[in-house]
Amino acid sequence: MHERILYVAHDHLNFERGVLKDANPATDVVVLVESARMTQGRPWHKERLFFLLSSAKHFAKMLTNQGFAVRYIQAATTIDGLLAARAEFGDLPIQSAEPSSFRQFAQLQQFGVKFVENDFFLTSRNHFLMWAEKQKSFVMENFYRAQRTRLNILMTDGEPEGGRWNYDAENRLPPPKNYEWPAYLEHSRDEIDMQVAKQLDCSPTATWATTRQGGLLQLQNFIENHLHAFGPYEDAIAADNWALHHSLLSPYLNNGLLHAEEVVNAAIDAYKNGKAPIESVEAFVRQIIGWREYINGMYWFLGEDYRNHNQLHAERKLLPLFTDSSKTKMKCVRSVVSDIEKRSWTHHIPRLMVLSNLALTTGTNPQEFLTWMREQFIDSSDWVMVPNVIGMAVHADGGILMTKPYASGGAYLNRMTQHCKSCNYDPKLRVGENACPFTTLYWDFLDRHKDRFVKNHRMSQQVNGLKRLTDLPELKLRAQQVLSGLDAGTI
Ligand SMILES: Cc1cc2nc3c(=O)[nH]c(=O)nc-3n(C[C@H](O)[C@H](O)[C@H](O)COP(=O)(O)OP(=O)(O)OC[C@H]3O[C@@H](n4cnc5c(N)ncnc54)[C@H](O)[C@@H]3O)c2cc1C
Repeated sequence: MHERILYVAHDHLNFERGVLKDANPATDVVVLVESARMTQGRPWHKERLFFLLSSAKHFAKMLTNQGFAVRYIQAATTIDGLLAARAEFGDLPIQSAEPSSFRQFAQLQQFGVKFVENDFFLTSRNHFLMWAEKQKSFVMENFYRAQRTRLNILMTDGEPEGGRWNYDAENRLPPPKNYEWPAYLEHSRDEIDMQVAKQLDCSPTATWATTRQGGLLQLQNFIENHLHAFGPYEDAIAADNWALHHSLLSPYLNNGLLHAEEVVNAAIDAYKNGKAPIESVEAFVRQIIGWREYINGMYWFLGEDYRNHNQLHAERKLLPLFTDSSKTKMKCVRSVVSDIEKRSWTHHIPRLMVLSNLALTTGTNPQEFLTWMREQFIDSSDWVMVPNVIGMAVHADGGILMTKPYASGGAYLNRMTQHCKSCNYDPKLRVGENACPFTTLYWDFLDRHKDRFVKNHRMSQQVNGLKRLTDLPELKLRAQQVLSGLDAGTI
């Protein structure tokens, strides 16, 4: 006789975590719900939907093979799906791991679902809360150092391995020239994949695995072929390569197929076995035990209304180039957006220094930008997009997360990308028809917000740089032309 219904969300696909870790095929029914809201509620990127649905269907099949009664239910809403499960199995108690968004947390709680702790991270929500409540400001680096100590990761006798907390000075190189990038994995598609592709009417690329086995292969490929050089090129954007030495692991970490613990352990083993140097291993480990955990912790700490911040009063509508890469002549932007169109992914620096930088300096409405980012990326979830966009990307929270906005002109992009040489626009120019829009908009942004940023000790030097611009009136005029051109999709 069944005693419990275990609800497994599409981002909790892990047999050893959440509600499944003490599951029993003799007494538990496992239910996954594909809600119409999830599939049709918004214009989601097809690659993303394909990945999420196919992963969940493979996972359901794996549970069935293990002897569980499993129902993969398609319904209008998650609650409708759970009602359908109760109609079949009786009025059983429903349990799930704590959901990953405020919205689903409230809905399931109201329906009477009982939660077990969300252990898909290395830091519980309570633990993070205790850390955050003791902080005057929420500097990620402080959290990261506490994590290294608490989790005893890359530590020797209480000191950071190698004597330093980070090796950024050795990293942050521009993209290399004439470099042989290792090949990336291509994942073959099975019958479940084909069914999902048919359902969604799409032809997915071979980029993303849809099983745990595929996720593990991706991890292995990263450790063997990319980790050793992760650090040096992590901030670079190459013209001849879409992923550099990034791990491509975020989708699997975020839907549960991989857990942070095993990913970090694999990187540390590679370091111990001499396969990767400390500057790359530390940089990678920081992304996972630092940034990823911090972002999740801050999502719950900052609360549901945090997403609505618009402290810079940015009201521009989403630029057409975000939804159609052909609507811009800017080489770097066009290349990044077309990568997203293809694979629903681009790495951190294009997200931050190209897309977000453009949204920030054009004064694009943060909520419109958030909606677009949320719909387009393979690894997006509410918990991770909201703080990354509202806090890190467009400074809409006025500095709660980051002490300064990530605004930069064309000089940065010229140094870190390979796009400027063949672009119509010149990163060194701030006025005139050939001026790089990033350079013009950077100064215009600083000028528009100078009263606010001159008080910020990390920004005052940049703001004071405005005084040296003899052509500021001309630049302000060019900025207006650039903004109109971007709105019209002609720049
Ligand atoms: C505006 C913006 C939006 C972003 N949206 C997302 C998102 O929706 N989902 C997402 O997983 N990441 C997001 N990130 C963080 C980061 O860009 C991606 O995690 C990374 O590009 C994924 O590729 P990767 O797995 O190859 O990462 P790698 O560069 O190999 O890094 C390893 C891992 O570190 C973690 N990580 C690193 N930085 C962050 C971060 N800021 N927040 C959370 N995790 C981090 C990820 O799990 C990632 O897989 C965003 C960053 C920005 C600036």
